[in-house]
Amino acid sequence: MAIDFTKYIASVPDYPEKGVIFRDISPLMADGEAFHAATDQIVKYAKDKGVEMIVGPEARGFIVGCPVAYELGVGFAPARKEGKLPRATVKASYDLEYGTSSLYLHKDAIKPGQRVLVTDDLLATGGTIGATIKLVEDLGGVVVGTAFLIELEALHGRDQLKGYDVFSLMTY
Ligand code: AMP
Repeated sequence: MAIDFTKYIASVPDYPEKGVIFRDISPLMADGEAFHAATDQIVKYAKDKGVEMIVGPEARGFIVGCPVAYELGVGFAPARKEGKLPRATVKASYDLEYGTSSLYLHKDAIKPGQRVLVTDDLLATGGTIGATIKLVEDLGGVVVGTAFLIELEALHGRDQLKGYDVFSLMTY
C-alpha cells in the first residue's frame, strides 16, 4: 500500500519567524520504514535519469542525498556554507529575504560531463537549489534532475528551475 508521507511531516507555525510554516522532516527520518520508502522513490527517479553523482546543500540536502547515493552506488558531494570546505572551491551566491548567502563546492567534486542529481529536503523559492546547480555547472557537470521531499508550490521554486526536471514527493 502506498505510504502517505505527509503523515511524517511536522508542520510548525511561526517558525523560525512569524508567518512561516516550518515543514519538519524529522519524524520522517525517525521512522525507518517511511524514510526507506521515501528514499526508494528518489532512487527510482534517479535510476531513470542515469545519475552518476549526487550533490546536496548543507545540511538537509545531505540527509536526502546520501542514502540515495549509497543505494545507487554513486558518489555524493556536499555543497557547504562559507569556511567549511578545506580545499580549493567554487562559489555561488543567492538571495535571501534579507541579504545574500553563498554555497561552495570543492573544485574536484564533479568531473566534466558527469550526470548529477541535486537533492534537498524542501523546495521553496528555489534560491538554494539554483546556487547548487550553478556550482555543479561551473565544474562542467550536467544536472539531469533535482529531487526534494517537499515542494512549497506557493513560492514557485519550480519556475526558477525552468529547463530542469523537478521531482518532489510531497507538495504543500
Ligand atoms: P529556498 O532557497 O527558498 O528554495 O529554500 C529552501 C531551503 O530552505 C531548504 O534548504 C529548506 O531546508 C529551507 N526551507 C525554506 N522554507 C522552509 C520551510 N517552510 N520549512 C522547512 N525548511 C524550509
